[in-house]
Amino acid sequence: MIYQNKIILLTAPSGSGKTSITRYLLECFPDKLAFSISAATRPPREKEKNGIDYYFLSQEDFNIKIREDAFAEWEMVYDGKYYGTLKSELQRIWNKQQIPLLDIDVKGAIHVKKQFPQSLGLFIMPPSVDELKRRLYTRGTDSDESIRARVNKAKYELSFKDHFDHVLLNDDLEKACIEAKRLVENFISS
Ligand code: 5GP
Repeated sequence: MIYQNKIILLTAPSGSGKTSITRYLLECFPDKLAFSISAATRPPREKEKNGIDYYFLSQEDFNIKIREDAFAEWEMVYDGKYYGTLKSELQRIWNKQQIPLLDIDVKGAIHVKKQFPQSLGLFIMPPSVDELKRRLYTRGTDSDESIRARVNKAKYELSFKDHFDHVLLNDDLEKACIEAKRLVENFISS
């Protein structure tokens, strides 16, 4: 399997434009890349579907998977909410002769990079913490309290950017997408 153990990690503080870049890359390389669907214990947002956006699990089922060693990594990303990458999900994608694209938090991405050093780690930088706050408010999917938590976490996460292969500044989404596409193209053909 030519892509076995190849992974693309897209990580960033929440609100940095990571989801838009993920979607763009999946559209650019529909045959080569596949979105890695994470397990999560938070409730689905409107329009989110189980098995498409996430595998939505109860805390109990998530704990069972931890005990079974079913995760490549897992984190409590926000207060009491757990997210994790299932080993079976990575293998499902490699079996289709594709490369998993992981949109995961910074600590999780560092774990994956350690286990799969040949993976491509991209860190998306927001232009500033104020801009990040503004984007989270504009997105309108989070409560004030959740935004406060995300901004505090973002400040901490920014200090880990040097663990990744490339840092992409997202002050202009189109530019960041084009740069990400170039790096992924090189990685696929390497
Ligand atoms: P949201 O709740 O907005 O969908 O995601 C919250 C955060 O969890 C995002 O930063 C997202 O990248 C991260 N995340 C999603 N899936 C995983 C995962 O499998 N593992 C880890 N560590 N973080 C994840």
